Amino acid sequence: MEYIKDIFLNIGIRDIIDIFIVAFAFYKIYTLIKETRAEQLIKGIVVLLIATKASELLKLFTTNWILEKTMTVGVIALLIVFQPELRRGLEYIGRTKFLSKSFIEIEKEDINQVIEEITDAMASLSRQKIGALVVLERETGLNEIVETGTSINGLVSSGLLINIFIPNTPLHDGAVVIKEDRVKAASCLLPLSENMNINKELGTRHRAALGVTEKSDCLAIVVSEETGAISVAENGSLSRYVDIQTLREILNKIYEKEKKKQGLLLKWRNKDENHQG
Ligand code: ATP
Ligand code: MG
Repeated sequence: MEYIKDIFLNIGIRDIIDIFIVAFAFYKIYTLIKETRAEQLIKGIVVLLIATKASELLKLFTTNWILEKTMTVGVIALLIVFQPELRRGLEYIGRTKFLSKSFIEIEKEDINQVIEEITDAMASLSRQKIGALVVLERETGLNEIVETGTSINGLVSSGLLINIFIPNTPLHDGAVVIKEDRVKAASCLLPLSENMNINKELGTRHRAALGVTEKSDCLAIVVSEETGAISVAENGSLSRYVDIQTLREILNKIYEKEKKKQGLLLKWRNKDENHQG
């Protein structure tokens, strides 16, 4: 009893902060791996750990020896198997506001123009039931994806976007990547989502939209060729049947957010220069 009381009396502010940090880190790790294949792997590891401990207690020496050796090799295997998840985790940390790099260098009127061009194109494609997949780059660089396609580097316009997706034309297959006010590339290959819980109605176009948003902070817009419905994917989750007004609002929000960040950064940089000069 004394002993427990001692523990409680000795808890300082440092211990509380310590516990909070660990709890927060575990919670973040959990949300990152939840519903990914890592979840099953973790379960596998827990079973292995229990089996190792049990075989030790039961004095099953050979079984225990093998399990222990497996665990040692397992650590290396884990790093290899978890590579995409580790990468995603590190990218997530790098994406925090504190370390963010500059993004949009275009003016407010131009932003509105870009948003109008994109929504117009999506509305038209949706009406004509032409399948389309558009990815908007944000902070995570998407050069690896851009390289899989055909480089374009043209100003965003609804005509250009519609034209790209017309069936049976060379660039219609795959995704378009937009960065700021430019169409970087078309015909890009996106990673497919491995999420098992995706609605079976959804095919590879929607899976590709989900896949790319699981691996980066981009936004993906899909127009279904079967139904003409517009869907928007972000952070590995898909909103279906998005109407044009909602799409416009979503685009406004993301371009606005990046713009604000940019404004702050510019102010801060100017201040810095003034200090030096
Ligand atoms: P829709 O509702 O338009 O039919 P869907 O989700 O059912 O979409 P599919 O019918 O399989 O998907 O669509 C196939 C098209 O999706 C391909 O022709 C290609 O343009 C695009 N696509 C498929 N996989 C990828 C990928 N990995 N990256 C980019 N685009 C892809
Ligand atoms: Mg289909």
